[in-house]
Amino acid sequence: MSAEHSSPDPSRRRLLAALGAAGIAGMLPIARARASRPLGVALVGLGYYSRDLLAPALRMTRHCRLAGIVTGTPAKAEAWQRRHGIPDRNVYDYTGFDRIADNPDIDVVYVVLPNHLHKPFTLRAAAAGKHVWCEKPMAMDAAEALAMIDACRQHRVQLAIGYRMQHEPNTQAVMALATSQPFGRLQRIRAEAGFHGFDSASGDNWRLDAARGGGAMYDMGVYALNAARYTAGAEPIAVTATSSIQRPDIFRGVDETMRFRLEFRDGVTADCATSFGKNMNRLRADCASGWYELSPFQAYEGVRGEASDGRRFDAAIGTTPAQQARQMDADALAILERRAPRVPGEEGWRDMQALDAIFASARAGGKRVEIAAG
Ligand code: NAD
Repeated sequence: MSAEHSSPDPSRRRLLAALGAAGIAGMLPIARARASRPLGVALVGLGYYSRDLLAPALRMTRHCRLAGIVTGTPAKAEAWQRRHGIPDRNVYDYTGFDRIADNPDIDVVYVVLPNHLHKPFTLRAAAAGKHVWCEKPMAMDAAEALAMIDACRQHRVQLAIGYRMQHEPNTQAVMALATSQPFGRLQRIRAEAGFHGFDSASGDNWRLDAARGGGAMYDMGVYALNAARYTAGAEPIAVTATSSIQRPDIFRGVDETMRFRLEFRDGVTADCATSFGKNMNRLRADCASGWYELSPFQAYEGVRGEASDGRRFDAAIGTTPAQQARQMDADALAILERRAPRVPGEEGWRDMQALDAIFASARAGGKRVEIAAG
């Protein structure tokens, strides 16, 4: 154990103080009561994001560490064990995953699988008594998202969604403007998130498969949608959306480009776009007496922007994967301190509600669809 891991941890002291004050230590699940070390995280799905971003980020975190892996590929497991020093007892395949319930090394299960597997693995992790972090988009639709929230509530574990931008300081500065409104009433938002990719349909790519949650809207569109909601500081009430495909040989049954206009109360609108065919990365708010924007607004580093009064959003947090480390440390502290995470399941569910309406509008050829008030 490193000196850092064995030194008195302020979060541990805060936790004990809170427990003593509340007299509820005996009620806590084992994983939460035993917090004298960083929380143990098990990554489920060892693809690109786990390998290149989350595992390296977990080497930078203070309040959590990579303790386990869940994978369907034995060769990957071996390589990860060697690289990250993961003992055999903390390695699971998808079938035997539920045995994780008996593993005291694992406090948090981080679901980093294709989108159609977010719900089943969240339900299984919650049933195993583990806190859950789940990648975006939270689920395939709002009903799945609600089931995930309910399961975590029922098993008294936390659920946080991997919307890393909400842990980024320049994004947080822009989010705060929704309340302080230094440029008067917000009038119009524009949010665009996309990239040019997928030059062929060859191979088994779940991002091109509707049944596994493929398409630009699920993948990149949620950044624009989430940004529109945090920039407005309000929930959209209706949407009109159009989906288009420029390369039908590649995009079969999933959207390549989606444009959607969200309507908020008081006439505020958000014109949003996402695409797998075009690079776009900008968030802008036009207000009664000024504007502000971030470009890029969603990136692993270098998020920056400015406002019409000359202010700049240019705080730096270090190189990739500092953002993911911030997110996981913040979510770990929320568990240790027994408070809600910054981006709880409900935040993902709100996006899924809007996303259901966006898909419904696009299917109906751009008809206006109201978004259920949840
Ligand atoms: P990936 O394709 O690189 O990895 C997916 C992993 O899931 C692979 O290890 C694969 O073997 C495994 N898997 C298990 N069952 C599968 C199935 N039925 N089909 C396909 N793969 C299966 O994907 P990724 O880029 O790592 O994305 C995983 C999740 O992380 C997605 O939800 C994605 O939206 C999210 N993600 C988030 C960010 C972010 O910045 N927050 C970035 C990238 C990906």
